[in-house]
Amino acid sequence: MQHHYDLIIVGAGLAGNCLALALKDSGLNIVVVEAASHRQLHESPAGDRALALAAGTVQVLQMLGVWDGVADKSTAIKNIHISDRGHFGKTRLSATEQGVEALGYVIAARDLEDHLADLVEQAGISRFYETRVVGLMSGNDAVNVSLKQQQQSLNLTAQLLVGADGGQSTVRKLLDIPQEVIEYGQTALVTTVESMLPHQNTAYERFTEQGPLALLPMAGKRAAVVWTREHEQAEALMASGEAELLAELQACFGYRLGALKLVAPRRAFPLNLIRAERMISGRAVIIGNAAHQLHPVAGQGFNLGIRDVAQLADMLIKQRQLHSDPGAEELLSDYARQRRQDHDKIIGFTNHVVRIFSNDWLPVAALRNTGLTLLDHLPFAKTLLTRHAMGLAKPLPKLDKQ
Ligand SMILES: Cc1cc2nc3c(=O)[nH]c(=O)nc-3n(C[C@H](O)[C@H](O)[C@H](O)COP(=O)(O)OP(=O)(O)OC[C@H]3O[C@@H](n4cnc5c(N)ncnc54)[C@H](O)[C@@H]3O)c2cc1C
Repeated sequence: MQHHYDLIIVGAGLAGNCLALALKDSGLNIVVVEAASHRQLHESPAGDRALALAAGTVQVLQMLGVWDGVADKSTAIKNIHISDRGHFGKTRLSATEQGVEALGYVIAARDLEDHLADLVEQAGISRFYETRVVGLMSGNDAVNVSLKQQQQSLNLTAQLLVGADGGQSTVRKLLDIPQEVIEYGQTALVTTVESMLPHQNTAYERFTEQGPLALLPMAGKRAAVVWTREHEQAEALMASGEAELLAELQACFGYRLGALKLVAPRRAFPLNLIRAERMISGRAVIIGNAAHQLHPVAGQGFNLGIRDVAQLADMLIKQRQLHSDPGAEELLSDYARQRRQDHDKIIGFTNHVVRIFSNDWLPVAALRNTGLTLLDHLPFAKTLLTRHAMGLAKPLPKLDKQ
């Protein structure tokens, strides 16, 4: 068995597997280490969450050869409707107005995760499932990684280690990277409904006194619900009868899609912001949720994570072409520098949206309503907001120089 790699990727989630695929033809010798089994990943209840993918994310997935295999499982977002319950302010963003095919796409996380895992397997990339990182030490020439594979211990070395092991990242902890945590005291309740009226490919984001509610268009008349509530309220809704839940949901959302029917189990995700204070340490870098776990209110988590992947892959491919060290300090510092601004912007934006739209203090409510109404009448500001929502505010790395 091989013990030295150019690159060890910890975590076969969305970020880890996308990075492995982005580098599959780079000539780098890669292994992906994943704590769960293939089956556990497929059966995880978390796979029921829907992801709103920005157009920029879909562009990257196309470059990676991922999108064609899942496009028919996705639903285009042609309009975004943002409103505030009990207040007049609202705004609409439309693909037609912006002259684009779609503002983004909605897909069940499980469909994308399963497809990525299949592609990584087909690419022949080495993977260790049911293998957990338990220790690591970054030296001058290599990083040493201790793994636990069921009852067995295993040691590997690599030029570079990428921690893509999610919000509770062990890699982040082992590297002693401090983190900022903001507890929002909120839980996202996730489910799927079927509506009486067609959604016409509209994603609804509705801000209510109890927290934001999103309905994202899915196949037919289905819509994925992401409903943020305070912990106790969410717990009560998780335990309530179907009729009670639907009555509360209709009261928050209204009847713009007619009567709603529940068509999937409910899942609960406690929400907090976790941000690593640094992205790099020695010969290791953390990406995706390991570096930034966001509130899902603005649907930015993976959309931000895939830009980490695209940037890092682009730099590693170029480094490989120069026959240079993939774990070189300059490369990693440069990566962190290039990603910092995007992280600051999206984390700041998401945090402000949570704060402003969870606040019913009258002056704040009045300001956000004026903001939404103004936005609806300012085409330039709307274009800017739309380009941000689409993940196209900044050009993406090309990833085509392999
Ligand atoms: C309710 C909800 C709705 C969301 N909606 C959106 C949306 O609309 N749009 C969007 O862009 N994002 C959304 N997100 C965010 C998105 O789901 C995450 O950003 C994304 O899944 C993070 O991917 P990741 O690969 O970084 O981490 P993860 O998906 O957490 O993957 C980490 C992997 O690492 C493995 N692992 C953990 N520890 C170890 C270890 N010690 N050793 C080895 N392996 C390990 C785990 O088993 C896991 O497979 C949403 C999130 C939630 C909760």
